Amino acid sequence: MYAKRMKRLGTETAFEVLARAKLLEAKGMNVVHLEIGEPDFDTPANIKNAAIEALQQGYTHYNPSPGLPEVRATIAEYISKDRGIQVKPENVVVVPGAKPTLFFAALAILEEGDEAIYPNPGFPIYESVIKFLGAKAVPIKLREGNDFNLDVDELEKKITSRTRLIILNSPQNPTGGVLPYEQLKRIAEITYKKNLFILSDEVYSKIIYEGKHTSIAAFPGMLEKTIILDGYSKTYAMTGWRLGFGVMNETLAKHVARLQTNCTSCTNSFIQRAGMKALTDPQDEPRKMVAEFKRRRDVIVEGLNSIKGVTCLKPKGAFYVFPNVSGTGIDSDELAKKLLDEKGVAVLSGTAFGKYGKGYLRFSYANSVENIKEGVSRMKEYVESHEKKSRR
Ligand code: PLP
Repeated sequence: MYAKRMKRLGTETAFEVLARAKLLEAKGMNVVHLEIGEPDFDTPANIKNAAIEALQQGYTHYNPSPGLPEVRATIAEYISKDRGIQVKPENVVVVPGAKPTLFFAALAILEEGDEAIYPNPGFPIYESVIKFLGAKAVPIKLREGNDFNLDVDELEKKITSRTRLIILNSPQNPTGGVLPYEQLKRIAEITYKKNLFILSDEVYSKIIYEGKHTSIAAFPGMLEKTIILDGYSKTYAMTGWRLGFGVMNETLAKHVARLQTNCTSCTNSFIQRAGMKALTDPQDEPRKMVAEFKRRRDVIVEGLNSIKGVTCLKPKGAFYVFPNVSGTGIDSDELAKKLLDEKGVAVLSGTAFGKYGKGYLRFSYANSVENIKEGVSRMKEYVESHEKKSRR
């Protein structure tokens, strides 16, 4: 009755856990939310005011599918300066959120039977979209022992004549890992002569605690074959606005814009105008958010490491930690479920990010220090009481 491809389409467990947590809350349970990946801050006032002003100015109509010309120009200027590359407005497509760049670019690139390499554990939508399009999803394992970076030799071995796409994500969801400059350089050297694209998911590029973000697009020959996926959700606490953009070669940008014509027609006009203001105004608000995330990171890492059987690396970016819970003797899926049902702590099992996430949990620390401490303390109680029971 329904198309077979629907069986191949995955989902994002974070939304399912959020729904379940809300259900428990409605029944009177007190829940600490450490599951969903969105800043708990409000969108900065200058951006909200820009949207109101744009509404009043009449930005309430259709606009060109690839985006308002002045918005594309602003994004091109921002990306050129920020990533140290030279891009034109024609390279930019404005889309509703960061996700559509992945969906549209993959639709434009992948044929059935092609291969796409993606990080695992990784953002679950990569594997979902690759499989949905009938391509082969080839995972590259990110190992804790390697600071959750990928092994470039292993990546090289996975590239075949059918590989058309490699997805990179730095800073990374769910591990908070940041790909070192030298690794990106080597990946660029290995791939630039090959007939494939790199989709570089850089939505967390501004949430970085040590050093500066590097885009693979900045290495020689890579601009033409890299798709930079970026957006406003995380940097400016704008998850509900749905605003993002892709930067890619002009031919691919035209394909992606045509997909947008067929799908959403265009991205909301007044929201694009607000997004323009977000990029051009002083960046004090996002900087403050990052400083606060860093403080919370330190609190959650210390708290988790104080639980017997749990080890947690200190991530260099994004707002997630990915502790190894295998030492507790509790399966990670079971632990995530029990923490929500019995302790009211909403977290995700590592397996929500692929098979190599087994044995880990993902915490989003985009929540107050108070709530983080409460969540960690409830988890400690649960793990310790489980240990006592199993010793008996
Ligand atoms: N890419 C990664 C790695 C993410 O973690 C997310 C959201 O969690 C997205 C893309 C999607 O962002 P948006 O909500 O702007 O579509």
